Amino acid sequence: MSWQPQIADLRFVLDDVLGAGDRLRALPPFAEADASLMAQVLEEAGKFVENEIAPLNRTGDEIGCRFDGGRVVTPPGFADAYAAFWQAGWPALACDPDDGGQGLPWVLEGALYEMLSGANHGWTMAPGLLHGAYECLKHHGSDALKAHYLPRIASGEWLATMCLTEPHAGSDLGLARTKGEPQADGSFAVSGTKIFISGGEHDLTDNIVHLVLGRLPDAPAGPKGLSLFLVPKVMADGTRNALACERIEEKMGLHGSPTCVMRFDGATGWLIGEAGRGLNAMFVMMNAARLHVALQGVGLLDAAWQKADAYAKERRQMRAPRPADAAPADPVRGPDLIGEHPAMRRILDVQRAWIDAGRVLAYRTAVELDVARHHADAATRDAAQNWCSVVTPVLKAAFTHQAFHGASECLQVFGGHGYVREWGVEQIVRDARVTMIYEGTNEIQAIDLLVRKVLPDGGAAFSRALLGLRAELDAGQTAHADALRRFAELRYLVATLVEAGKKDPVLPYEVADDFLRLVALALVGWAWARIGAAPGAQAPRWQAPSVALTRHVLPEFEMRMTMLKARCKAALQPAEAA
Ligand SMILES: Cc1cc2nc3c(=O)[nH]c(=O)nc-3n(C[C@H](O)[C@H](O)[C@H](O)COP(=O)(O)OP(=O)(O)OC[C@H]3O[C@@H](n4cnc5c(N)ncnc54)[C@H](O)[C@@H]3O)c2cc1C
Repeated sequence: MSWQPQIADLRFVLDDVLGAGDRLRALPPFAEADASLMAQVLEEAGKFVENEIAPLNRTGDEIGCRFDGGRVVTPPGFADAYAAFWQAGWPALACDPDDGGQGLPWVLEGALYEMLSGANHGWTMAPGLLHGAYECLKHHGSDALKAHYLPRIASGEWLATMCLTEPHAGSDLGLARTKGEPQADGSFAVSGTKIFISGGEHDLTDNIVHLVLGRLPDAPAGPKGLSLFLVPKVMADGTRNALACERIEEKMGLHGSPTCVMRFDGATGWLIGEAGRGLNAMFVMMNAARLHVALQGVGLLDAAWQKADAYAKERRQMRAPRPADAAPADPVRGPDLIGEHPAMRRILDVQRAWIDAGRVLAYRTAVELDVARHHADAATRDAAQNWCSVVTPVLKAAFTHQAFHGASECLQVFGGHGYVREWGVEQIVRDARVTMIYEGTNEIQAIDLLVRKVLPDGGAAFSRALLGLRAELDAGQTAHADALRRFAELRYLVATLVEAGKKDPVLPYEVADDFLRLVALALVGWAWARIGAAPGAQAPRWQAPSVALTRHVLPEFEMRMTMLKARCKAALQPAEAA
């Protein structure tokens, strides 16, 4: 079963559920982005991914990348597919036309990357950082840097990396030791070792533009002392810069993406943005990059679901129970399809419910990213920015968690045939695992949400983000009333957490994961309330996951809420709780 683009589903979410086109066309740069143009882009993207990228997934995993004396050889077919990708203009989809881009809404790029990740996660890691690097350079780079690098990054002619992690500095980037020594000509000599660098070296492009986090010699310790440097592999005069790939990692999955140890030996680089404001320069790309990873989760889970669903329509085992009102069973009928057994149907429908909700929420956030950038009204821009800031860590953590655990559930549908390589679902489980780790681990996302974004203002920004959603619901409908109740319970919980955190400062860090999961479940409930209100949502395609959601997904909200309230109560009334 090979990966298939699900264009009808994507369009249903964008057009019928979210009405994304109308919202986007109200923004000046997208006035011309009518529904047929958006549909055409999605169709072409689906064809490209299906025909050029998906067929390389298996070889990418089985042959993988090879380290050969400082060079990295990517799996057969990867380089040709990348050449076809950038020459067809796909990396430039959402870049500014002034930089050679196509000036289309970000949500189309998001949908493209969701498909790419589902079809071939390893290959997709290569262009995955391009747009982030583009935004970072566009907003913070000097004119000279922009003139030379921006069009090549926008087009994808050159690929880019994000060099943050060091052997002793992972989640805590403030520990980074890489140094940038100022030179007489205004450049910096960058020295240090970076590990786990995706695409640090490869044979896909002639040049690689590294964005390297380091510090000037006199910089203070900690995150405030960090600066960002642009360090190219090949200099403008064609000579090699003083940097090298020392090795690539052997990994659990994602074999098509080289994960490199990079050594910078006084390599020539230039500051991006101000000295000591390196993290600030990277923040421009943070929300979009984390949303990309959330979409990787949605794409990977959809790929696993497609395989499991196809298998469940072919394999037969035993007889499945019949509903009470079903016609009498044929006494000589043979075994039923796996997909007819309620335990397997439940797995498939539950994962489908997560995938569809993930699309609604991620596409909605992608639209908000453009509203935050382009809307004429400052208050609307602020509200959109607030939404992205609050919701992005939730989507990154929740949908990467679901990608791995849900893909493992999909593997279960195959029984032993899922554990062996033949059907390809075990690759998805291995590939998906890393999405919970990189781009800020899921624990860091949870702390970012609760400790940095929700608690400091007593939940005000969080409530504002939920407020917009409440306005889109109709309290007269059961699904909507339930969604509204979850929002109200969350706001009440935040008030309790603020008080409990004063008594027990460790508590918010201990329960951050539970809180993020609660918010995710409330958002998933909202997304399905919106799906249910869209024309066509009564079709079995949408009804089955909707029922599974109500029965098997949303009750977790109550369970986690009970746990969290008990933990808060123990902090607020220790004697009583004991
Ligand atoms: C395949 C792959 C590709 C990658 N690509 C890149 C890349 O292109 N560029 C790049 O710079 N990096 C990249 N990384 C690195 C990745 O971003 C880091 O692995 C990640 O940030 C975690 O850092 P660490 O591995 O050092 O774990 P640590 O930071 O040591 O964390 C270990 C565990 O402790 C938890 N933890 C740490 N601090 C806290 C805290 N304050 N509160 C609660 N829990 C905490 C973490 O959640 C984790 O579970 C990649 C990693 C992999 C595996």
